[in-house]
Amino acid sequence: MKRFIIYMYALLAAMSAGTTAIMGAEPLAVRSGKIVGAESGEPRPLHGVSLAWHHFADRYYNADVVRTLHRSWGADVIRAAVSVELGDGYLANPRRAMRALETVVEACIEEDCYVVIDWHCHHIRTEEAVGFFTEAARRWGDKANVIYEIYNEPENDTWSEVKAYAERVAAAIREIDPDNIIIVGSPHWDQDVDIAADDPLTGYDNIAYSFHFYADTHRAENMERCDYALSKGLPLIVSECGAMDHLGGGEVNYEWWGRWMQWAERNDIGWIAWSLSDKVETCSMLRHGAPAEGGWGIDDLKDWSLLVISSLKQKTNENR
Ligand code: MG
Repeated sequence: MKRFIIYMYALLAAMSAGTTAIMGAEPLAVRSGKIVGAESGEPRPLHGVSLAWHHFADRYYNADVVRTLHRSWGADVIRAAVSVELGDGYLANPRRAMRALETVVEACIEEDCYVVIDWHCHHIRTEEAVGFFTEAARRWGDKANVIYEIYNEPENDTWSEVKAYAERVAAAIREIDPDNIIIVGSPHWDQDVDIAADDPLTGYDNIAYSFHFYADTHRAENMERCDYALSKGLPLIVSECGAMDHLGGGEVNYEWWGRWMQWAERNDIGWIAWSLSDKVETCSMLRHGAPAEGGWGIDDLKDWSLLVISSLKQKTNENR
């Protein structure tokens, strides 16, 4: 029954043509373990959608998609997942990567929503990351809209290796941009936030830490580790999440998605849902062949996107 109600609610929300009123992008800061508005000091949890790896999904990296996610779905943040190592990613074809990124960043600035520039990589590539983020900071570091996510998901690196990498990339960004939020990852696909909490970066302002969950895999034990990190004052943001298993497959787990949503709300933590593509897998929000121009109808949307839209609409209604 609950699932049916969520489904119907999301269906109506998705089909309503009206524009959703969302707060615009203000400069952000990290204070007392939370992401806040730099001027108001009030918590500013962001809620939105991640685009998929650009090397196979960059046909959705366009202003029409940004507008649909922002105005119709109610996302106040969009994450551009710049592929690094895989396929025709940044290492093989930096021009294609920067073109896709630029289109999305400029569209988000135009829409007055936030954009996460995500170095979507699973291994440390310090010099390439320094070059990439130096260019991003030069181009957009004076815009309140931009957030840097410097390492999507470490797989095999220790925390000391991830920390050393993060310090190097943060130093490069801070040479140019003194204030925009930098999101730092943690070992094992951003699961080890408890370890980062015991030994966080020092010497830089406005650093947040990513935690990623997939609600059908990550449950009570992961929530406890996050609670430990929060108890130590570590500022968290869920820069990627899903309601299915950690491989993006299986069933949508409504119960544990709901529990994580409540946890995030209780702690003023924002979340970004993975991902906007038409790949045939549970975590891809669009049905195969959905148009690249946004404005999708019900035939283009899957259970997962309806749940995301419903969760986003709940946030925007609360903020009215
Ligand atoms: Mg700045």
